[in-house]
Amino acid sequence: EHLGYIIENDLIQSALFGGIDKHKIEYINAKLSGLKKTDNGYEVNLDNQTNLSCQLLVGADGANSQVRTLSAIEVTERDYQQKAIIANIISEKPFQQTTWQRFLSDSIIALLPLSENQASIVWSCKNHLADELTKLDGDKFNQSLSEAVEYRFGNLALESDRQVFPLIERSAKDYTMPNLALIGDAAHNIHPLAGQGVNLGFSDAKELNLQLLTNSDKVLGDFSVLRKYARARRLDNELMAKTMTGLDWIYKENNEPLRWLRGFG
Ligand SMILES: Cc1cc2nc3c(=O)[nH]c(=O)nc-3n(C[C@H](O)[C@H](O)[C@H](O)COP(=O)(O)OP(=O)(O)OC[C@H]3O[C@@H](n4cnc5c(N)ncnc54)[C@H](O)[C@@H]3O)c2cc1C
Repeated sequence: EHLGYIIENDLIQSALFGGIDKHKIEYINAKLSGLKKTDNGYEVNLDNQTNLSCQLLVGADGANSQVRTLSAIEVTERDYQQKAIIANIISEKPFQQTTWQRFLSDSIIALLPLSENQASIVWSCKNHLADELTKLDGDKFNQSLSEAVEYRFGNLALESDRQVFPLIERSAKDYTMPNLALIGDAAHNIHPLAGQGVNLGFSDAKELNLQLLTNSDKVLGDFSVLRKYARARRLDNELMAKTMTGLDWIYKENNEPLRWLRGFG
């Protein structure tokens, strides 16, 4: 049995667009610019001057959710004081279809294979290290990366630009309001060290769908139904967030008992 699978984001998106086509869902390519609560739902303003009305608004618009901000849902934040550098790389030696991760005192490196000699990296570093690494030219960065993974795959070399993301754990105080539900990163976002963000979002979508189907006798957007979704998902999401924070702490601390515990683990 496999522990997990690596699926490129483009493939997931193309499958989702396939689903939109198949079910003849109208896709509007525009940004949300305003929201107004109405008696039985929301009026949604888009930046292409279109206004829509709905009984249920699902905010699936990521970590800096406009739906969350415009509906004044508070959010708690914990800044990890880390940044993640992501890029695609090529290697001299094959990855043998195995995800590889190394925990260091000031960073965590994940190599996620895309083919025998290609991988994407997520290198989560303390802020000062991330700033140093992003300032390096390509050759020096390649050398630092290869050293950091002890040349296990020979020389590693960048195959794309580096992108940098500040790492912040967020949790919306409310996942739902009457006629509104937040899902995915709009509701919560976690440290990427275990690559669990997308799974949590899919579980939110599945649970919301289940609650809407099993309570289809109630009007769409009914708050009691939406609250069932929120109750079912919050514990799982918060447990995962705490686990990521705990793992990050265990590998960051450098005292002797913890080093022993890590080695034992
Ligand atoms: C460095 C890094 C590495 C990661 N690696 C992994 C990994 O390996 N595996 C994993 O499972 N997760 C990983 N994650 C987490 C994962 O990226 C997120 O959990 C996931 O993308 C959340 O999906 P989402 O659909 O909720 O939000 P997003 O993917 O952020 O999608 C939100 C969408 O809403 C749109 N949007 C935003 N604002 C508006 C607006 N005003 N109007 C209209 N549209 C809007 C955006 O354009 C975007 O398309 C990683 C995260 C980071 C930062």
